[in-house]
Amino acid sequence: MKYYMPVRVFDEKECVRNHADDIASFGRKALVVTGRSSSFSNGSYDDVKQALDDSGIDHEVFSEVEENPSTDTVLGAKERYASAGIDFVIGIGGGSPMDAAKAIALVLKHPEADPEYLYDPSRPSDALPVICVPTTCGTGSEVTGVSVLTRHDKKTKISMTHKVFPDLALIDGKYLRSASKTLIINSSVDALAHLLESALNAKADDYVQMTASAGLKLWAQTKDVLTGDREPSDEDRALLMRSSALGGMSIAGCGTSIPHALSYTLTYDMGLAHGRAVGYFLPGFVQAAVQKEREALLELAGFSDAGDLKSFIFKVFDGQVIPSEHLTRSFETVKNNPAKMKSASFEVDEQVLKKIVFG
Ligand code: NAP
Ligand code: ZN
Repeated sequence: MKYYMPVRVFDEKECVRNHADDIASFGRKALVVTGRSSSFSNGSYDDVKQALDDSGIDHEVFSEVEENPSTDTVLGAKERYASAGIDFVIGIGGGSPMDAAKAIALVLKHPEADPEYLYDPSRPSDALPVICVPTTCGTGSEVTGVSVLTRHDKKTKISMTHKVFPDLALIDGKYLRSASKTLIINSSVDALAHLLESALNAKADDYVQMTASAGLKLWAQTKDVLTGDREPSDEDRALLMRSSALGGMSIAGCGTSIPHALSYTLTYDMGLAHGRAVGYFLPGFVQAAVQKEREALLELAGFSDAGDLKSFIFKVFDGQVIPSEHLTRSFETVKNNPAKMKSASFEVDEQVLKKIVFG
């Protein structure tokens, strides 16, 4: 067994300001990577700017990361900043800017990189140092080496081959105060999927089970916030962020499984938010698992059975209907991917996959 999670994590109130010296330790000039607007209104950019200014660290801002960022965006940032003397990269936001920040840190270290570089395992994976400040509660990207990028040439999303773990993750639930209910639901269902897909993963070992179980227990405490039965408190926001980070640590150990693999073409074809696309397949996936494992995990997450999970997903997503042609593309993509078909801890053949996708 191997446990590799090389990210220094601080999960506390005001952690960006508290750790200004840690941020400053990475060099003299930072590239701050954000989405288009949320980081400038939820306080996360202000905190990072203050920390950098207090230490006399110069910075540039690249605020053009779209949702489900593309390889074009990553390479575009490299063209702009390759000669700017950047020492380290700070990704602020949801999974999109954090994933983009990792890929940008890689290509800034290798200015000769072209789009193929991102997917070429024979090329070096060393990158500029990366700091991540999450402002959503689902991807756990702040603790994974994964960067999921949209490939317009293939009309889907594919994770970069290279693993670029952040050096520092600064987690503060206060950045969720501005998040809409929809964003919290979408991202928390993504966190739930990471926790369940890793616990039910063929590669899950005791270390993965440890982080997944801990994350599911925390996740269960905020379930009634997601169903709208309770308004979130700051303590809930901290738990939402923490269960997301534990989900990230879990998938860092074993990768995701069938629901994630099925989701990517749905997001590309329909523009469906990542958590929504993944969540659609989650009840069917869990239902297909071995009964004993399924029951233990559902209990940890606060569900009485797989039907209860299905009702929850139906409720929080208002009964999402996916046109059958899109489901068929998801099905065909995963059916033809032998590694993904073997990624669950239980057997998934064509019939089982059909049931997960079409019910
Ligand atoms: P996201 O795509 O990063 O952001 C979704 C939306 O939420 C954006 O419009 C963003 O606005 C807004 N937003 C972010 N934080 C906010 C806040 N605190 N308050 C208000 N609005 C806020 O969403 P995400 O679900 O976190 O990330 C999804 C991406 O992560 C997908 O590409 C997915 O494939 C990837 N992912 C990566 C991993 C991994 O291990 N690396 C795991 C799972 C998923 P702005 O654009 O203005 O910032
Ligand atoms: Zn995900």
